[in-house]
Amino acid sequence: MKTVVISPGIATYGAMLIGGVVREAGHEVALSTSLAAGDAEAVLLSLYSTQHLMDPEMKAFVASVRASGRPVYIGGPVSAYPEYVLGELAPDAVVVGEGEATVPRLLAGGIHPDLPGVAYVDGGKTVVTPPAPPAPVERPLPLIPDAIGQQSIRGANAYIETHRGCTGACTFCQVPRFFGREIRSRGLEEIREEVRAFREKGATRLSVSGGTGSLYGYDGAIDNDAVIALLEMLAEELGPRNVSAPDIRVDAITDEILEAIQKYTIGWLFFGFESGSDRILRQMGKGVTVAQMHDAVEQSRQHGLKVAGCFIVGYPTETAEDYTATKDFIAAEMLDDVFISVAEPIPRTPLADLVLRTPHPENPVFAPHEGEYRSLRLTEAEARWFDLSQHADMYKPLLHVVTDEVFSLYLSEARKQGEDVRRVTALIEKYDR
Ligand code: SF4
Repeated sequence: MKTVVISPGIATYGAMLIGGVVREAGHEVALSTSLAAGDAEAVLLSLYSTQHLMDPEMKAFVASVRASGRPVYIGGPVSAYPEYVLGELAPDAVVVGEGEATVPRLLAGGIHPDLPGVAYVDGGKTVVTPPAPPAPVERPLPLIPDAIGQQSIRGANAYIETHRGCTGACTFCQVPRFFGREIRSRGLEEIREEVRAFREKGATRLSVSGGTGSLYGYDGAIDNDAVIALLEMLAEELGPRNVSAPDIRVDAITDEILEAIQKYTIGWLFFGFESGSDRILRQMGKGVTVAQMHDAVEQSRQHGLKVAGCFIVGYPTETAEDYTATKDFIAAEMLDDVFISVAEPIPRTPLADLVLRTPHPENPVFAPHEGEYRSLRLTEAEARWFDLSQHADMYKPLLHVVTDEVFSLYLSEARKQGEDVRRVTALIEKYDR
């Protein structure tokens, strides 16, 4: 069967992976980043953002493909809340959770109540079949697009999956809920073969994905040797300054791993700090303290690494004092780079439950900001995003000047993030009724 796997905007690893599985099952398959079905007989949409569910173009595309008599199946991270996908986009079916086993069966036999891991509407009722078992980590080579060398996701052509799952339980995160808290690591030689396939297609810079890069080989404890062997192999294949290992938990580092990151990668660490307040860290289920965060920064710098941090503002219970603590942390640590998000309640996460229990006037994403940016008519969460972006620039080791252009850019991004999160909030409220 002629199929197309579409991941809007970027060729995600998940879409490439499903493309490879479909090819292995004997189908003719193309990968696309735009909403175009061409002459495909079936369309697989791989969606990675809740925002996709509210995109009018996406809705129109699904409707037009179905009107032409061809099936549309939707998978990817949004499949964790299948009722939302069916309600908003009305595909033929949702492939729930890991799709490697389900998608080929769906293409071969169509929708069936005995097929595990699907959701669909039958006679006006939503049917969700029992979950498919976790997919084996061994799988065929992904379907890598010819233009992979031109793609840049935070500087990498692609994020490759070395393991699945995360031992963490952060309230805002989907990773442990989608992939589980057990770590399933792929074989080193299989990853090497995949890296070579990426290289042959023109990729030069790859990043290690997964919730926490240093959990590769984890089996109840961090496996220094496995992580070092992985990074060494990647550097052998790509060159030492073409690999990055982002998103590492502050409690998942060792001197040996930091040494290997220094030796085999671009030399940056990306920590998900999220907040400088112990109270908020506890509420987020981060499982670490501000003191541990500080120690991790110090330890990383002792190995000559640059340290970037991700932060979340506008968590429903974040007070002005909590926010000030985040600013103090950033000022004290002089981070090399900072990424900020407004807290987004991904459906079916504990954060989504908390947002549903929080009246709008008490939720910083809705509450109007009454402080120094009052004239800009921002909500409290937007004002914190805007303020923290400028604050972080002031405390970076290299001087960043906030020009008028940067000011406008920050302002529009703050408003966009607030608006996006309010749209997701409206969506979870709709399905909570
Ligand atoms: S450590 Fe990272 S991947 Fe793991 S649950 Fe927390 S945010 Fe998600």
